Amino acid sequence: MKRVLIIYTGGTIGMTRTENGYAPRAGYFRAALDGISDLHSEEMPAWDFLELSPLLDSSNMTVREWNCIAALIAQKYNDYDGFVVLHGTDTMAYTAAALSYLIQASPKPIVITGSQKSICLHDTDARMNLYNSFLYAADDDSHDVSLVFDGKVILGTRARKERTKSYNAFSSVDYPEIGVIRDGKLIRYLAPKQYMDGAKPTFYDKLEEL
Ligand code: ASP
Repeated sequence: MKRVLIIYTGGTIGMTRTENGYAPRAGYFRAALDGISDLHSEEMPAWDFLELSPLLDSSNMTVREWNCIAALIAQKYNDYDGFVVLHGTDTMAYTAAALSYLIQASPKPIVITGSQKSICLHDTDARMNLYNSFLYAADDDSHDVSLVFDGKVILGTRARKERTKSYNAFSSVDYPEIGVIRDGKLIRYLAPKQYMDGAKPTFYDKLEEL
């Protein structure tokens, strides 16, 4: 069985109601995941969960967090078959691009996702985005950094947030989507890259902090 590491950085996906509006709360999202039976079904990979501190609204992400996420993936790279980074949507495309440069030629998939509505709401897109991300991260032909959202798989360097309310928040810019996930089936539009057995990614130490 494949093993995936979830790295939870914050964002709407794990926010809950507080006196000051919706905000992420430590420990809340991990508990919510236990209630999603789909994520524990047979076709899902086994997963571990890592929560960063503090949890951030992604408008507060800086180069320092990008370096930190990449360093964490480098540190855990040999222990997992794939990585799912949970992130706010506002700067998700920037983080996807940054990670694509910090971690190059990765035979293991690094997926970034989040949601437009919190997991605590009944009409949330969080469950679908999580399920699709796990499915993509567990596929043998998935590699490199990509963003999975609303059933689309987008190359990490090509994603742009174009819609603030619609579940269809992201588009792939000047490049086709890698594929789509519909009803639990991954359909690839582009032939997957081939990596030799035992191929290793190149990790770059850091992007310069301004
Ligand atoms: N402002 C939130 C963030 O980017 C929006 C979201 O998560 O979708 O963290």
